[in-house]
Amino acid sequence: MTEKRIQLLPEHVANQIAAGEVVQRPASVVKELMENAIDAGSDLIQLIVKEGGKTLIQVTDNGSGIPEEQVELAFQRHATSKIRQAEDLFQIQSKGFRGEALASIAAIAHVELQTRQAQDETGLRVRIEGGTLKEKEACASQVGSSFSVKQLFYNIPARRNFLKSDAVELRHITEEFQRIALAHPEVAFRFYSNGNVLFDLPPGNLKLRLVHVLGAKTKEKLVPVEEETDVVNLSGFILKPDYAKKSRGEQYFFVNNRFVKSPYLHHAVMAAYEGLLPANFYPGYFLFLEVDPARLDVNIHPTKTEVKFEDEQTLYAILRSAIKHSLGQFQVAPTLDFNR
Ligand code: ADP
Ligand code: MG
Repeated sequence: MTEKRIQLLPEHVANQIAAGEVVQRPASVVKELMENAIDAGSDLIQLIVKEGGKTLIQVTDNGSGIPEEQVELAFQRHATSKIRQAEDLFQIQSKGFRGEALASIAAIAHVELQTRQAQDETGLRVRIEGGTLKEKEACASQVGSSFSVKQLFYNIPARRNFLKSDAVELRHITEEFQRIALAHPEVAFRFYSNGNVLFDLPPGNLKLRLVHVLGAKTKEKLVPVEEETDVVNLSGFILKPDYAKKSRGEQYFFVNNRFVKSPYLHHAVMAAYEGLLPANFYPGYFLFLEVDPARLDVNIHPTKTEVKFEDEQTLYAILRSAIKHSLGQFQVAPTLDFNR
């Protein structure tokens, strides 16, 4: 009979449990690794996936690199270079701060990291399987970091079996890739799947990025939105009502450059389009909200796609009126022919 004494779980077991919240599918790994690459100050990020990320997810950046003596620490839970104390939670500028992603990913996959800082002559290569260090050696390396994640969920059969087809997993990955690429038009991105280039995005501004990601025709659909207030700096684009679709998918809010979902703010946008759209049509939008991090809580969920605003109602009103204003300014008349 097993003993009923209370004991602390070994770290690799705790990490495996926590990983369930952070890593739902290959796209979660893509999100975490790409966010780390952004936080490292990269201006070129390359994503390579094979078979919907099931056999390989590789993110290579030209950012800061990780100091040799800190590489192992980076894979421990609650190990982060991004915050130091509780107060820092109220002034978060980085994507990460929980120090969970690398520990989680390493607990449920085979991970290889190659990294070098600009001032170091050689790089370092480590290989970690199920949270255990298997290899560590000096190597020749570009400045920056390259993470390769293989055999995702190799030790969690239930999760592995739950994965959908390669095509569906690739769609989720593409969604995450686009969210990050749109949030950071100043960064160049490349994305390969099974050896084919899916995206090759030069650095530029938001308008250019939208055209590169969504297609050349996007340009004529865009209406700029701009509003500066004490509570929020709002910028970005909405799509003219004629381009509204019956399906969702082109709705993007970025709060302090982080993609978030907000049914409440979505409602504000819908309210601004009132009378311009037939029932069950959704307008496209790409809206950036800059708010004081002290008045924002991004620590609601491990994936950070939900946030809480202190000034929610004010934001609603500002958003609605700014969009109405933009729609009016561009004299966008309601279109009757929606059967295209
Ligand atoms: P967090 O991003 O919340 O800090 P992570 O587990 O994602 O936690 O990463 C742990 C630490 O490893 C980061 O704080 C950072 O210092 C370092 N790190 C991770 N990825 C990179 C990268 N691509 N370039 C440089 N440093 C990185
Ligand atoms: Mg991170």
